[in-house]
Amino acid sequence: MRFSTPDRGGRNTDTFKRQSEQWRHAYAQAGTMGELFPKVEELLIASTFVDPISLGHYSPRQHIIFPAAKAFFAFACPRTLCLHGGFRLEEVVIKALKAGKVSASGTLECPGHMEPPESQPVPCSLRMDYRIDVRYAPSKKR
Ligand SMILES: [Zn+2]
Repeated sequence: MRFSTPDRGGRNTDTFKRQSEQWRHAYAQAGTMGELFPKVEELLIASTFVDPISLGHYSPRQHIIFPAAKAFFAFACPRTLCLHGGFRLEEVVIKALKAGKVSASGTLECPGHMEPPESQPVPCSLRMDYRIDVRYAPSKKR
């Protein structure tokens, strides 16, 4: 997973820098899947985006999380100008994993906003339709 730092000068540069630092920090703090969810062999998170204000087109994404990977289920908003946005799936994912579900799906809306240089802040409101598929390790017979 990569977190890019938008480089666009102006008044929001520091905010963007801080924002990506926060993401990096949260990611670094997360434990691995193997530590937290030892029964999970593979977790797939597929997402597509719907933009109600048609500002852009964002490609579907797919993350496959293996036991060695970080148990980190929050994704930055794909709009590079979005502030304080992102999609936090940890609640859904953790709930599904604890319940031993093999799949879950739903929709989240980005809570962030954009600040165009010469007008009022605009809510981001980008929607993410997600689907989670989980593969559990076969239970050991010992
Ligand atoms: Zn956003």
